[in-house]
Amino acid sequence: MPTYTVINPATEQPVRIVPSTSAQETDAAIERAAAAQVSWRATAPGERAALLRAFAAEVGAHTEELAALEVAGSGHPIGAARWEAGQVRDVLAYYAGAPERAFGRQIPVAGGLDVTFAEPLGVVGLIVPWNFPMPILSWGLAPALAAGNTVVAKPAEMTPLTAIRIGELALAAGLPEGVFQVLPGKGSVVGQRLVDHELVRKIVFTGSTEVGSKLMADCARQVKRVTLELGGKSANIVFADADLEQAAATAPYAVFDNAGQDCCARSRILVERSVFDRFMELLEPAVLGVAVGDPGDPGTEMGPLISAEHRDRVASYVPDGAPVAFRGQAPAGPGYWYPPTVLAPVGADDPAFTEEVFGPVVTVVPVEDEAEAIRIANDTPYGLSGSIWTRDIGRALRVARAVETGNLSVNSHASVRYWTPFGGFKQSGLGRELGPDALDAFTEVKNVFIATK
Ligand code: NDP
Repeated sequence: MPTYTVINPATEQPVRIVPSTSAQETDAAIERAAAAQVSWRATAPGERAALLRAFAAEVGAHTEELAALEVAGSGHPIGAARWEAGQVRDVLAYYAGAPERAFGRQIPVAGGLDVTFAEPLGVVGLIVPWNFPMPILSWGLAPALAAGNTVVAKPAEMTPLTAIRIGELALAAGLPEGVFQVLPGKGSVVGQRLVDHELVRKIVFTGSTEVGSKLMADCARQVKRVTLELGGKSANIVFADADLEQAAATAPYAVFDNAGQDCCARSRILVERSVFDRFMELLEPAVLGVAVGDPGDPGTEMGPLISAEHRDRVASYVPDGAPVAFRGQAPAGPGYWYPPTVLAPVGADDPAFTEEVFGPVVTVVPVEDEAEAIRIANDTPYGLSGSIWTRDIGRALRVARAVETGNLSVNSHASVRYWTPFGGFKQSGLGRELGPDALDAFTEVKNVFIATK
């Protein structure tokens, strides 16, 4: 079987050799998943719930191991990696409550009884990117399983280790063979087979807008269901009446978290002109204070980028002569390091200001007023996330309603809570993940009329 080597992005050393799944093996896994789905959907709701709770507990008992794997295989700081493993446990536990609450409806009709059922779709294909290998896997996996589907997951080629281990933990927890399978390998091979195979009834894709829109077109041929979580270019809007100290102290973490490889990164900071200089004075020490270094050190806040190729791409947004206002530090030597970088002033057509950088580069621009802040925040094909800093609750709500984006925080940089819906406007995606209604995306409504006459 062909294999490939996972590289530690902080050291450039090999971590592990993993199999590269072929198209034929992918087909075989899909067929196993379809066979397993027959009994999984027939498993009593309480029993499915108990198995998901056992799966959550198994993940919970292995958070340290999973976190260490993510440090080695993805370069995530250990503190973040522990949180990510905990997120998998919590998402599984949350959706363990769902099988027994997969309600239908009773609708009044003359001459009988009309009821609806939430039927599982069948096999769900889950395509995961490299930036958050664990949480993003769990967001599709847990509700899909809870609804009675089986899942075939393709982790990103560069970061398969935690997904492979979570697949083993599912079996250890008692999930039947074939209910959840993890296939490491190439997107163009494994991912594409998931998209093209007729037994896969839904694709949950998180990744770039470019690949996502192509997969959507491919899925259209079979009218295959699809959820897309795509790119972002989110604004962090800071008004003059905000708690500037708090806004500036936290802004670096809103964009440099996971080295900026975050679809929700607030990579455009829009500051009301009257406080722009003061904000920049406060931002500088906050940026210089970001602890960049060994991901295994509990004090580390930012690790390396995922690959040399990606570092080159990020660096291309900061060419010689770019307007670097200030810049943090990054280790020298091996590893794909890039320092936290603040660009200001930038032109409205600067690619760092208009495109998703997916690295630790942020632009800061002054805005005249609320109307201009909204206009600039919306002047992008994306609409995933963002923040609004103000002490005026009326303005906070006005701006929140006006910004065309799926997930906003007021006086906070929080992005994702598994018990609230998550997803994008415009080219940031299609559909919503997480929250109490997530099972809707993994079930079809079946309507049944029973005549009583
Ligand atoms: P890609 O779109 O390149 O890859 C995402 C996944 O799709 C990978 O598993 C990849 O496999 C797979 N893939 C690639 N080509 C195909 C294909 N033809 N058929 C099926 N699957 C395929 O994105 P990145 O990995 O570069 O991730 C970064 C992007 O993801 C950013 O744009 C970011 O904003 C977005 N993102 C969005 C999130 C959201 O929730 N909205 C969250 C996180 C990231 P392989 O690894 O082999 O290339």
